[in-house]
Amino acid sequence: MSEPTHETPRTEPAARLRPVLDRIVSYKPGGAVRSPDGRSYPLASNESPYEPPPAVVKAIGEAALGVHRYPDDAATELIAEISRHLGVAEDAVAVGCGSVGICQMLLEAVAEPGAEVMYAWRSFEAYPLLTALSGATSVQIPLRDGVHDLAAMADALTERTRLVFVCNPNNPTGTAVHRAELAAFLDRVPADCLVVLDEAYREYVRDERVPDGLTLLAGRPNVLVLRTFSKAYGLAGLRVGYAVGDPALIAGVRKAHLPFSVNGVALAAALAALGSEAELMARVETTVQERGRVRTALIEQGYTVPAGEANFLWLELGDRSAAFAAACAAAGVAVRAFADDGVRVSIGSPTENDAFLTAAAAFTVRHG
Ligand SMILES: *Cc1c(COP(=O)(O)O)cnc(C)c1O
Repeated sequence: MSEPTHETPRTEPAARLRPVLDRIVSYKPGGAVRSPDGRSYPLASNESPYEPPPAVVKAIGEAALGVHRYPDDAATELIAEISRHLGVAEDAVAVGCGSVGICQMLLEAVAEPGAEVMYAWRSFEAYPLLTALSGATSVQIPLRDGVHDLAAMADALTERTRLVFVCNPNNPTGTAVHRAELAAFLDRVPADCLVVLDEAYREYVRDERVPDGLTLLAGRPNVLVLRTFSKAYGLAGLRVGYAVGDPALIAGVRKAHLPFSVNGVALAAALAALGSEAELMARVETTVQERGRVRTALIEQGYTVPAGEANFLWLELGDRSAAFAAACAAAGVAVRAFADDGVRVSIGSPTENDAFLTAAAAFTVRHG
């Protein structure tokens, strides 16, 4: 065994890294909690509570036999199937390693030093992380009553704004902006500034005032819609997302693609998931019903819970957020607390949701 060369562990890496990394907090795995009697309900990451349908499992197994080959980096079959499903041209679609992978591709494509990237806050935590990594500057516009303040966002646009994320419905609040206000916002964004409508939860939306972003693309070549197979399609572990937009923009995005970052098993699974759409959308409907049931129960328990259009709900708990999450964890229920803002709980199976509601009821009893 070799002797350690330093008396104390080094805190500085030997190679010079970009200073921006000092401002980024290392990822802490979360989600796995267990009650004293061994129960575990993972409601922290907005995943589907269902295992993949048999046809998807079969496709994954078959694709496993091909992993000694590189995948089709052009994702030809999957893009063709997505384009058929959505009724858009194949050159209007780009796929990536999760929609987070696409966000990174977009930042690679637009973020020069000095560029500003705008988004609401609180919103999806990947936006500040990826923006910082890209070298661009984040411009965070506070939510207003828990909803995107699109008027304030439009007022804050500058000639340096290169990208605006609009997360609709918003993670973690679940709130969604409506067609008229979103269209009015898009009309105020300069034509050379990219707007990304992140619709990771589109399949769970039931409020008809919330637009399908695809219907806003016509005549707006600077707007992209981002979708994912991670939530409604139940493939969070395989990492496939896609963007839809103007072919010229999509061509640029595709150039920023990390080669072979969408693997062959993931491509096959996504294709099979599109083939199992009816079954998957029936599950989504169950989740939507459960969302209503859980929200009603929470409100009856005395919690403040905005109407959510995604597969999770937001509890406005302020400085009680961490205590609430700890109480849930003690009951085996993993939820996500966000500083002193609130707690996000994913909608799981009815059993998981019941376990959460029991923990939530016990917390109100103890904390008033
Ligand atoms: C979960 C989520 C995604 C999906 O990310 P993937 O990389 O596709 O798994 C994208 N955007 C938001 C806002 C999300 O909450």
